[in-house]
Amino acid sequence: MRKKLICQAIILAGILAACGTNNKSAKVDESNVSVESSVASSDGREATDMKVVKKNVTSSKEETSTQESTTEATTAPVTTAAETSTEAKKESEKQETSKPEQETSKKSEEATKAKEAGEIGFDPNWEYASFSKIHSGSAVLYKPSEKGNGITIAVNAGHGTKGGSSQKTLCHPDGSAKVTSGTTKAGATTAVAVSEGMTFEDGTPESTVTYEMAKVLKAELLSRGYNVLMIRDGSDVQLDNIARTVIANNNAAAHIALHWDSTTSNKGAFYMGVPEVDSYRSMEPVASNWKKHEALGKSLINGLSANGTKIFSKGRMEMDLTQTSYSTIPSIDIELGDKKSDHGKDTLKNLSKGIADGIDSYFGR
Ligand SMILES: [Zn+2]
Repeated sequence: MRKKLICQAIILAGILAACGTNNKSAKVDESNVSVESSVASSDGREATDMKVVKKNVTSSKEETSTQESTTEATTAPVTTAAETSTEAKKESEKQETSKPEQETSKKSEEATKAKEAGEIGFDPNWEYASFSKIHSGSAVLYKPSEKGNGITIAVNAGHGTKGGSSQKTLCHPDGSAKVTSGTTKAGATTAVAVSEGMTFEDGTPESTVTYEMAKVLKAELLSRGYNVLMIRDGSDVQLDNIARTVIANNNAAAHIALHWDSTTSNKGAFYMGVPEVDSYRSMEPVASNWKKHEALGKSLINGLSANGTKIFSKGRMEMDLTQTSYSTIPSIDIELGDKKSDHGKDTLKNLSKGIADGIDSYFGR
């Protein structure tokens, strides 16, 4: 018995020592988390309506689990041992008083949720990842507080990557030339990694408006049960267009990039369609996915149109985009207006409903 106690003491001391090191790194993580949550709470509506689960899961998985178990107070016996004696006491009291089966499963469900949600960094092993030049940033995954539908939508606030135009990336993964002219002319094989975007006539940068739009759309989608992967969850994210696309490819069911066009006629909304050029449509991953891009684009325009949004022409303009050229999931660049368009709160709210209606219809919901 005595031997056993000594053994336990030694083990406990070992765990405490190990925990000490972990706590140091956990502190670093916590500072990140608090910065993020202050960003999230700056929008009052999100803070009240949604339970935003954010944790830094990109660093070390071990560190994160330590952090989670200390805050969530649920799982492993190691946690109890790693706590200080008072905390351990609290922990055991909690376990004694809590109703067994149901409570525990509910709690562990929450813990799983928390583990799944959080920052999603760039994985260099992903397909096409090696084509990206800027990828030190992370996307952030949000989940609805109520039971969700399990579908993750990547919401990509266009632009907002400092230094993004000083780097160039391949337009197509096979190195072939661009087939349409846009910001980059047809025939070019490289384009800026991610451009600065335009400035509205009222002086607001496009990247500011796309981020505002992304936040409003996030709230709308969460309320409809979708998970939302915010590709840019702040004024800047160090992810180029390829990195944004590859992160969406590997973590979402659809990718919606939000933009406003650089014309000055308030011409209305449209999506960037897949160019009707054989060589382009037969190149992978375009060949396997272009029909899905087109279907998603049409759904979004239908949703917006039904909601009273002005639509440009037939709601479609052909464009050979980096996003489309590297997308392996249904993926659309939607232009919600131009430099002259209103981008006030009510307009963004209405646009978000139209886009969400389009997403619902695409997923048959
Ligand atoms: Zn744009």
